[in-house]
Amino acid sequence: MRTRQEYIDSLKALNTVVYAFGEKIDNVVEHPLTKPHVNAAAMTYELAHDPEFEDLVTTTSHLTGKKVSRFTHIHQSADDLVKKVKMLRGISQRTGSCYQRCVGFDGINALYATTYDIDQKHGTRYHERMKDYVKHLQETDNMVCGAMTDPKGDRGLSPGKQDDPDLYVRIVEKNDKGIVIRGAKAHQTGVVNSHEILIMPTIALAEEDQDYAVACALPVDAPGVIHIFGRQSNDTRKFDEMDQGNACFGVVGGEALTVLNDVFVPWEKVFMCGEVDFAGTLVERFACYHRQNYGGCKGGVSDIIVGATAAIADMNGVARASHIRDKIVEMLHLTETVYCCSIACSSQGRPTRSGAYFVDPLLANVGKLNITRFIYEICRLSHDIAGGLLATLPSEKDLQHPEIGPYVEKYFKGKADVPTEERYRIVRLLENMTGGTALVESMHGAGSPQAQRVMILRQGNLPHKVALARKLAGIEEKG
Ligand code: SF4
Ligand code: FE
Repeated sequence: MRTRQEYIDSLKALNTVVYAFGEKIDNVVEHPLTKPHVNAAAMTYELAHDPEFEDLVTTTSHLTGKKVSRFTHIHQSADDLVKKVKMLRGISQRTGSCYQRCVGFDGINALYATTYDIDQKHGTRYHERMKDYVKHLQETDNMVCGAMTDPKGDRGLSPGKQDDPDLYVRIVEKNDKGIVIRGAKAHQTGVVNSHEILIMPTIALAEEDQDYAVACALPVDAPGVIHIFGRQSNDTRKFDEMDQGNACFGVVGGEALTVLNDVFVPWEKVFMCGEVDFAGTLVERFACYHRQNYGGCKGGVSDIIVGATAAIADMNGVARASHIRDKIVEMLHLTETVYCCSIACSSQGRPTRSGAYFVDPLLANVGKLNITRFIYEICRLSHDIAGGLLATLPSEKDLQHPEIGPYVEKYFKGKADVPTEERYRIVRLLENMTGGTALVESMHGAGSPQAQRVMILRQGNLPHKVALARKLAGIEEKG
């Protein structure tokens, strides 16, 4: 397994094409816009070598019997699923931001189970290829960007009916060596500091959309691949230090638009090619695995928000007020509630036909829907307690200015024994973690809330509940 430094050095060896602010980024490891996201992903490598985390972040490969990073592992038990959630919470508590590696992790598990099912029905040989691919990831310890979301154009039209056929990734050529794909993937978490991309379809597909039923793996720097880095709220603060709030690890995952301009993929890296009948299954499995995560990763993020909120209340001299304590209790309650859902859907996991374990889909979707509400409430309470300073604090340059700095120092002081700079740092951390980009990620990451509601209705077994009620009400069933 790679160390933190080996991961960082391995990125320098790639020729990844990344643009941001209209310019090409030569070195994602050093550029201020991308460096925090590299640091966050590097934590997944660092903790694999930390005795305290070893049991969570590493495991034994069922394919080779060797010790591997859990991020390259295929879940072999419900306990594996539970350990995944505990691992995510533990890493989030150290980064306070997204470390991006779960998307590829969920992609390989979803594809492992689905390639098995495709082969059973169609007599194809994708599953053996998938096993080889997983072994390759376990041996290299590569970071994989799970690429599912297409740009989608007119949401009312299917992929083949779009005015522009490239708005969903599609196969434009097949030959004896492999396939050529064209299109783009949007909101790609961690892609600019990954080694590989795992392409998957984004929706269930109809018979006529065969060209869009494609799953395959390619290097991030394959010819024809261009990444356009997304803006975040307050991103120019990445050129300052204290004003960033979380200077080392940034906020969320450093998302990008990944353009695929006729990219060649050899057959040994193709895991679905035209099997439209399995696109929906693959999407659902991936979505459930990723929704499983959120009580872990956002649980850990919330731990820091609660801690920062309690710290600022103390710096403001109001920590002992009963309404503050009550709000802190509410924040703790919400944090543990989202964590409960992730633990529950994991402990209720069941084996798929492939042997890979899968989460309880109803509970995973309930957990993610809770995130879209509870994180907002946690952040709302933190804003309530922290006060207006979150929105009006002058820059760190003003604090350090030789003439006006003493005024900033004097008038932004809270309790006498707390240095103003410490109050500054906590306020900026809270602003970073509870503001625009972070909140939107909690809403739409792992799928927008409506996607969870659709799954909840489908998995909720309403007819059974109606039958229970009718029986108890004494209504005789006919026939
Ligand atoms: Fe992992 Fe959370 Fe980031 Fe998704 S948002 S990749 S689950 S850390
Ligand atoms: Fe996410």
